[in-house]
Amino acid sequence: MTDISAELRSRLHLFNTLTHRSDLFAPADGERVKLYVCGPTVYSSPHIGNMRTYLFSDVLRRVLALTGWEVDAAMNITDVGHLTSDADSGDDKMAAAAKAERATAWDVAAKYTDAFFADAERLNILPVQHVLKATDHIDVQLDLVRALDEKGVLYTTSDGVYFDTSLVPDYGKLTPNDTRTSLRAGERVAMGEKRNPTDFAVWKFSDPAEGQRDMEWDSPWGRGFPGWHLECSAMAMETFGPTLDLHLGGIDHIAIHHTNEIAQSETATGKPFSRWWMHGAFLNLEGEKRMGKSEGNKITLATVEEWGFTPLEFRYLVMLSHYRSPLAFSLETLEAAAQAHRRLRKHVEGWKQAAAASGEPEPGLDLRDHPYVDEFVDAIADDMNTARVVAVLWTVARDPEVDPATKLALVDLFDRVLGLDLAVPPDADDVPDDVRALAELRWRMRTERNFAESDRLRDELLSAGWTMQDGRDGYELVPVS
Ligand code: AMP
Ligand code: ZN
Repeated sequence: MTDISAELRSRLHLFNTLTHRSDLFAPADGERVKLYVCGPTVYSSPHIGNMRTYLFSDVLRRVLALTGWEVDAAMNITDVGHLTSDADSGDDKMAAAAKAERATAWDVAAKYTDAFFADAERLNILPVQHVLKATDHIDVQLDLVRALDEKGVLYTTSDGVYFDTSLVPDYGKLTPNDTRTSLRAGERVAMGEKRNPTDFAVWKFSDPAEGQRDMEWDSPWGRGFPGWHLECSAMAMETFGPTLDLHLGGIDHIAIHHTNEIAQSETATGKPFSRWWMHGAFLNLEGEKRMGKSEGNKITLATVEEWGFTPLEFRYLVMLSHYRSPLAFSLETLEAAAQAHRRLRKHVEGWKQAAAASGEPEPGLDLRDHPYVDEFVDAIADDMNTARVVAVLWTVARDPEVDPATKLALVDLFDRVLGLDLAVPPDADDVPDDVRALAELRWRMRTERNFAESDRLRDELLSAGWTMQDGRDGYELVPVS
């Protein structure tokens, strides 16, 4: 292998919901990746399911950064227009939360935007280049309504301006099943004055009966507020032009939100809206159908921390599943993930000490032709298989043939994608350096099946006041009581 970045670029396959297969990815202009991820609706604290989706987009941005392409990423903040039903009925989620919290919609938005970014930072989710608040971009949204009006695809009802989806020949192309047919089955549900069940509002009118809304704007069609789908189309195209390289979100966005973004954007510009559409599978509570902000079974990162786990232990758990596989969350799986994460960090500590003791060169080693780098690139290039990356990482950790300095360099490389701070020593670990070095040496002897030396070192540790509890993938050091 010559250059890791070039190798990854030449092999990187990403699954595209639009084509239903993994295709070799490259940005359209060969240099800059234009990436848009649908951001949170800030009416409530994010739950760990939401954060799984942002971890997926974070890993993708890290992978793209490793290829050497420039990554230009945008994410919106939905602070207006997302109705309690994705299919355009019910109240605006922000307005409903404001009522419940006896605050303004603006205060609610500010509070939960901060909550989202605080969680993102603790999970090592790297900041995007463009954070786009829907309420800061009303003008471009109105420009898009105007453009659609000129194309003759809009009609007005008593509660808003709607997009006539029957005028788009390839409407629903993102879904394997015909969306129109499946939605028609639910036609009795809230058709209102809509012409077709799949039609959606691009602009909703303020309801005078409800008094003045916290968030409303004048428009040529009447005072009101933008639809949720409109905001993403308008702001994405304002930032990147008509065609993006990648557009991401959770799988629940496929049938309605992304389908409608495509209908609006492509009708307005006549160009493909995004070359790749990528969707993350859900995190669900084991035994329950789904976790949602309104389902009453919400677990947040704060809950996870109250249970005694760190955000990065949760991140480790997420890395153990492929992003397109559902993740069944349970306390047991989190506990196992946390232990493995701690063990890995302890190993890294041991390698640092062993490398320093043996006087080997500092990391920064040339890894280019290392077989484990090849395995790592293979795993990443296979539609970002983080579960395989973690497996390779453990193989490295257990391999007696690999010297500590090389292990450190490999971990450093893998962690650029995993984002697990593996080189940061675990907290609350009072194990003295010399004990840790002895334990690492003993673990190495054990994996090399040098049992005599391994037993001798175990005794040495015991007389220093420590027992080693061996597991399959590593060990715990416990002080003798
Ligand atoms: P929302 O704040 O409700 O707009 O959702 C933010 C993101 O979280 C969207 O991309 C959703 O698709 C995603 N999402 C919602 N629930 C889950 C879940 N249980 N697991 C994974 N992603 C989710
Ligand atoms: Zn969106």
